[in-house]
Amino acid sequence: MLRLSDIAEWRSYANGVRAKGRTVGLVPTMGALHQGHAALFRAAKDRGDVVVATLFVNPRQFNDAGDLERYPRTPELDRSLALDSGVDCLIEPTLDAMWPAYPAPTPTTVSVGGLSDLYEGAGRPGHFDGVASVVAKLFAITGPARAYFGEKDFQQLAVVRQMVRDLAFDVEVVGCPIVRDHDGLAFSSRNARISKDGRRQALALSEALACVAGHADCASAQRARLTATLREAGVELAYADVVDPTTLVPSRDDETGERRALVAGFVEGVRLLDNGPVRIVGR
Ligand code: AMP
Repeated sequence: MLRLSDIAEWRSYANGVRAKGRTVGLVPTMGALHQGHAALFRAAKDRGDVVVATLFVNPRQFNDAGDLERYPRTPELDRSLALDSGVDCLIEPTLDAMWPAYPAPTPTTVSVGGLSDLYEGAGRPGHFDGVASVVAKLFAITGPARAYFGEKDFQQLAVVRQMVRDLAFDVEVVGCPIVRDHDGLAFSSRNARISKDGRRQALALSEALACVAGHADCASAQRARLTATLREAGVELAYADVVDPTTLVPSRDDETGERRALVAGFVEGVRLLDNGPVRIVGR
């Protein structure tokens, strides 16, 4: 596995891959890698791409300095997990290379209107501008044929897809299913920050989703089920909703079909999110 940090070397590596007639599969991450990330690396490998993974804790997508500071960093473990999961080139760019002006604002921002203001964006102003800007830059440097993102961050996936459509990036965005631990909790780098008791509480997120997946009901009844399960467990609710999977517009009670349930809340001060498929039946 090759390791690079310099942007010029990284660009020239990707150019070389394409010159040999191969395709680049990009997997952007913020490190503290786990099995959810490994599944993305394997998905890229299985499609026959040369797998380029990036490890970069992007400060522009954090609206809370404390959250950025506490974000877990495990570079040694990340390197061995990446190697074991088939990553061909691991990129660890420096902050100075990515955002030389930081902490001063970078003049150029990519902003995906509408979608970015909902849910995660409402609770974390500027978050998706940071995400879209860094993903656009990673695309510009790497020139991937495909880029792999987890459904775990469902809204992020929707924002990236919208950006790719609107700006005509020649990149196929591949969404990969959520990988869960044995108890149902979705793998997340932030799980490392919750205690054993907190973890029991956190399970309410996946339980709430399993509960709505097991019922066919109208949107507001599904919403009420999500909210009740989270509140009963003592999770400090950020949001729980049933939405259109592409636009993230909340579903109405006269709609019928396959939708997405989104949940987010705080456990021991740590923001956790999850989502899953849900069927609604209009009344
Ligand atoms: P992060 O390092 O948290 O920014 O995540 C990097 C990528 O891994 C994003 O596309 C996430 O959606 C994806 N990811 C994180 N956790 C999971 C998971 N449990 N299952 C699937 N994908 C995940």
